Amino acid sequence: MKFNTKTIHGGQIPEKGYGAVMPPIYQTSTYSQSSPGKHKGYEYSRTHNPTRCALENSLASIENGHYGLAFGSGLAAIDAVLKLLKSGDEVISTNDLYGGSYRLFTKVFENFGINFRFTGMSNTDSVKKLINSRTKIIWVETPTNPMMNIIDIKSLSKIAKDKKILLAIDNTFATPFLQQPLDLGADIVMHSATKYLAGHSDVVLGALVVKNKELAEKLHFIQNASGAICGPMDSFLTLRGIKTLHVRMKRHCENAKKIATFLINHPKIDKVFWPGLKTHHNHQIAKEQMSDFGAMISFTTKGNSFKKAIQIIENLKLFTLAESLGGVESLAGHPASMTHASIPKKERELSGLIDSLIRLSVGIEDAEDLISDLNQAIR
Ligand SMILES: *Cc1c(COP(=O)(O)O)cnc(C)c1O
Repeated sequence: MKFNTKTIHGGQIPEKGYGAVMPPIYQTSTYSQSSPGKHKGYEYSRTHNPTRCALENSLASIENGHYGLAFGSGLAAIDAVLKLLKSGDEVISTNDLYGGSYRLFTKVFENFGINFRFTGMSNTDSVKKLINSRTKIIWVETPTNPMMNIIDIKSLSKIAKDKKILLAIDNTFATPFLQQPLDLGADIVMHSATKYLAGHSDVVLGALVVKNKELAEKLHFIQNASGAICGPMDSFLTLRGIKTLHVRMKRHCENAKKIATFLINHPKIDKVFWPGLKTHHNHQIAKEQMSDFGAMISFTTKGNSFKKAIQIIENLKLFTLAESLGGVESLAGHPASMTHASIPKKERELSGLIDSLIRLSVGIEDAEDLISDLNQAIR
């Protein structure tokens, strides 16, 4: 099956009872047994639920993995991966990371004796230098948030495999429509399905996909033991979202290209961070590992004024000021005071996240309307 077909049919079997085309929302906590331990594959909904299983099979299919696991949020999925570790273990991670992931790493898991080392990964040699015998996971976002750096997954996977380190990729920004990390050698793909996969800003959900059976069993054990699962209604909504992922992503990318071109030619705009621009410092690797360049764009204004950035955001009418991304509607955010406020200013600015940086999640409205909204707000 090719990708577009997989988003609709991957891992799905017709429902047995009445032939329902969509898997029913099995809103149940438990399942009847005919004799102790004798059941139809389902015992208790923390462990398994048919609606969640349908979603998990779909996730595995679209990411070219063998096993999918769905969680109550993206952070719950990351939490499950980190629980593979023991006190004393180390994780190497990208330095311009989603703020919530950074908070989970440094404010929760460091208390349990797990150590995190942050570095830019545009040059993978910086990762090599941090590896030691305690390194167990390399955690990567690409494109990074919000600087849109692109990290070479294939080259990192060679480094990781050599040292028997797990390579985990947060694929939230790219989605499997643009980039398939497992095929590039990663061990774990993670998603905040809240964003593009579900795609309609109506659900919070997280996902993991792996190929390796032993790793899947460990993660499933944690999913059940810690219990951070998603409910059947949210599983259903995400599954429905995935069925149009390919059509939405195509339009998202087309709109982003038009907006990035508009911004880069605007006299009041300083820098535009979008990997599709030839001037983007990782454009070449983006071209190699992604099929298009996504719809997340960051930009800074000339003079780097905090106040002006806030004014622009307040003046936007079609772009909604909100956290999150990846929905059909366009959103704008100010990372320094919103999503990345939990990262210390010094650390933020080291990675280029300065006060005037505005981040756009370009939706699937008409590009002309989005551009005229940006134009009036910047003016
Ligand atoms: C939103 C997001 C997360 C966290 O996911 P939630 O579903 O909000 O818990 C993790 N990584 C990235 C890149 C995100 O955008």
